[in-house]
Amino acid sequence: MEMQTILVVEDEREIARMVQAYLIREGYRVEVAFTGDDGWRLFQSLKPDLVILDLMLPGVHGLELARRVRQEGNVPIIMLTARAEEADRVAGLEMGADDYVTKPFSLRELAARVRAVLRRVEGGPPPQVLQAGPFHIDLAGREARLSGKLLDLTPTEFDLLAVFVRHPGRVFTRRELLEVLQDRSYATLPRTVDSHVKNLRRKIEPNPDEPSFILTMHGVGYKFRAEGG
Ligand code: CA
Repeated sequence: MEMQTILVVEDEREIARMVQAYLIREGYRVEVAFTGDDGWRLFQSLKPDLVILDLMLPGVHGLELARRVRQEGNVPIIMLTARAEEADRVAGLEMGADDYVTKPFSLRELAARVRAVLRRVEGGPPPQVLQAGPFHIDLAGREARLSGKLLDLTPTEFDLLAVFVRHPGRVFTRRELLEVLQDRSYATLPRTVDSHVKNLRRKIEPNPDEPSFILTMHGVGYKFRAEGG
C-alpha cells in the first residue's frame, strides 16, 4: 500500500510544523503550506490523500480553498477553526469539509480524526513498512535493512532514516529534522542533527566521505536520494 500524503495549510508556522512532525511520526507523508495560494498550488502538484485546512488564511481564504478542493474531487478535508469561527465552521461543513478540529487542539486528537477520516475514505491504517531503493524499514518491528542486511541503528538514527526513506528527494532543513527528533523526546540541539546524520552515514554509505544517499544541501540541510550512486 502506498504511503498516504497529507497537505497541511496553516499560516501559524509553529502549529503547522508541530502537526507535520507529529503526523510524519504517525506514518504519513506530510507537506505544509503557509498561505492559501501556496496551499492551492501544492494541492494541485501533490494530489494529497487528505487536506488539513486552517480557515483563517492570508491570501485565498480557507473556505474558498475548501470549495476549490471539493470541486476537484473527493479528497477529504479536516478544518482547523478557532472557537469564535462557528459560523465559518458551519459554512465549511456545508462546503464539504469532512470534519473539524477546534483550536487549541491536541495533536493526538487531530491524528485520531485523520485516521478516522482516511479509514472512512480508503480503508486501512498507514503502512507499517517503508521502502525506497535498497532501504526497507519495518516501523512496527523497528528494523531497518539496506539491501536485505539488518542495520545496527540507535533509536535516533532509526527515526532519522525513517523520515528520509519516507520522503526521497525532499530537502529537509536542520530545523525540520530537529523537530521530528524532539517530537520523539530526544533532547537535541540543532548541531546534533549533523552528528546524527554523520553517524547514520557511517552505517549506510558505501563511502561516508562522499555520501550518495544522504546529501548535504549547503546552507539548508539534507536530502535523501534512494537510488544512491
Ligand atoms: Ca490562521
